[in-house]
Amino acid sequence: MDPILVEAFTLAQFANLKPTEVERFRNSVGPNFLPDFWETRNWGGSLAWQDAQRFLRDLWSARPPFPQAEAVKLIIRIDRYRDLTYSVEKKPPVGEDWVCPAQRAIMFMAVNPWRARFCPTCGERVVAATARSTRCDKQSCFEESRRATKREAWRRNGKQWRAKLKKTAKKARSKKQSARVTASRGKKGKT
Ligand SMILES: [Zn+2]
Repeated sequence: MDPILVEAFTLAQFANLKPTEVERFRNSVGPNFLPDFWETRNWGGSLAWQDAQRFLRDLWSARPPFPQAEAVKLIIRIDRYRDLTYSVEKKPPVGEDWVCPAQRAIMFMAVNPWRARFCPTCGERVVAATARSTRCDKQSCFEESRRATKREAWRRNGKQWRAKLKKTAKKARSKKQSARVTASRGKKGKT
């Protein structure tokens, strides 16, 4: 898969992230996806990552999603959060002009805003890999989508299918009956 698409999926994970999942996310995506700003406080005192997330969620919900000017603002904002995080006690992991994958992914989404979707089952933010994909990859949502596809197919073809089933059942019954008749005839023949 295209690496930028993988980064966009990770961006969706960040957009859906709950405060209790921060540690897991931080450890699983590696330190460079976003600045290591998980404890950094904004000028107003709020947590920087939650501000960035709120901004990102607004981009996702905008109609159409990811308006480019706003997306650029978030990219710049992440840069400021990086400065806030690293200027005091830590050095950034790479050189001065370091761009983190999240910033690249935001740009990618601004160029491909049709990919920003919501899972119709759980409501989480999803990056569509193809024009037809809409759901997130959670097992429960996947199963729900299979059931929905089945329901939809039955809604469209149910009448026809039910009629066909009835016909086959009738045929099977009459076959059985005629088989029984032949069998009983055979018995009669023996006696
Ligand atoms: Zn879902």
